[in-house]
Amino acid sequence: MTRTAPLDLVAADDLFSDEERAIRDTVRKFCADRIRPHLAEWFEKGELPARDLAREMGELGLLGMHLQGYGAAGTNAVSYGLACHELEAADSGLRSLVSVQGSLAMYAIYAYGSEEQKNEWLPRMVTGEAVGCFGLTEADFGSNPGGMRTNAKKDGSDWVLNGTKMWITNGSIADVAVVWARTDEGIRGFVVPTTVKGFTANTVPGKLSLRASVTSELVLEDVRLPADAVLPHSKGLASPLGCLNEARFGIVFGSLGAARDCLETAIAYASDREVFDKPLSAYQLTQAKLAEMALELGKGMLLAVRIGRLKDAGTLKPEQVSMGKLNNVRVALRIAREARTILGANGITLEYPVMRHANNLESVLTYEGTSEVHLLVIGQALTGVGAFR
Ligand SMILES: Cc1cc2nc3c(=O)[nH]c(=O)nc-3n(C[C@H](O)[C@H](O)[C@H](O)COP(=O)(O)OP(=O)(O)OC[C@H]3O[C@@H](n4cnc5c(N)ncnc54)[C@H](O)[C@@H]3O)c2cc1C
Repeated sequence: MTRTAPLDLVAADDLFSDEERAIRDTVRKFCADRIRPHLAEWFEKGELPARDLAREMGELGLLGMHLQGYGAAGTNAVSYGLACHELEAADSGLRSLVSVQGSLAMYAIYAYGSEEQKNEWLPRMVTGEAVGCFGLTEADFGSNPGGMRTNAKKDGSDWVLNGTKMWITNGSIADVAVVWARTDEGIRGFVVPTTVKGFTANTVPGKLSLRASVTSELVLEDVRLPADAVLPHSKGLASPLGCLNEARFGIVFGSLGAARDCLETAIAYASDREVFDKPLSAYQLTQAKLAEMALELGKGMLLAVRIGRLKDAGTLKPEQVSMGKLNNVRVALRIAREARTILGANGITLEYPVMRHANNLESVLTYEGTSEVHLLVIGQALTGVGAFR
């Protein structure tokens, strides 16, 4: 009998235009040829040739691809979502590199920057010649970034920044850091070239998750910047949260890529593996697991596409992004863990991608708003009452 691909159960292909499918297929091929053969090694060594990959992904038009102008590809949001889906089917670290570059660092400059800042940085970030990072979180302030201690004080016409940021993706390889700091006028964003005196980035050691991704601490000691380093249109916490919404959108699609890869791996494995004299896939218990996984994957994709179409229509609300991020990462993690059981002992190795995905998804569950934070966002939308504190 023929096998149906998991996402064909909801006829997912019909949801996309020819152009969206073409972009998806291009990214899938890039990952198959260039990324997948090396992933186990990169993950094991905890190293990613991120700058080389940024260049290659820049050539493919993946960096800031849904932004308009400045050399960006200018695709719709669904195409960007599908690119994230394919990148994360390879590894969440790859998608993180692209998310942070395009949706956090570039988007901050794009949405809140001056024309000079945009012209200086965006064209080079589109090509991957310049890599960006986004410094919001601090060791003591993750879910509650409004408590940040990093500050920027005026000294004549200059700004002087002091503070430490933690868990910053791409931090030690970045050319430019968008740093959020407390000022007399509230929280503002600053464009910080990483070569400036007083700026250091240290790689965070000992990660068991997102090992094929650079995660760093940023230290700013009397970093002196000219007056025009501030993002002129950034005003308060709403500005970094606007960037986070962009990156969360990528995760809505991306996390399901990891889930799809786990499910496809589990189906192939169960078909080949014989236990008690017949294929593992022929047992009802296994089929129930696979069917439950396919059900959740399909529902998650329908939700992702709905959210993508709302984004393209310009009507997407933050609580809708929260629904997608919360549901799809949770579902992806469950699928990864269930797939791991089907692979038995082989499931714990790097020979198969499922444990790598499961480990990565633990980070994805936490960053860009934890599950608890997204529950609170949805709860606030439902009741009109904020229950964050
Ligand atoms: C690999 C990785 C990469 C990252 N990259 C970046 C980056 O590029 N830039 C950046 O700025 N940050 C980045 N982060 C940081 C990430 O956004 C934070 O880790 C995240 O916001 C959670 O903050 P925290 O780790 O301090 O956890 P905490 O905020 O301390 O949360 C701990 C627990 O408390 C729960 N909690 C918090 N508040 C409430 C509440 N009101 N009610 C109930 N429960 C609550 C949380 O849900 C969680 O379960 C990254 C993190 C990781 C792991």
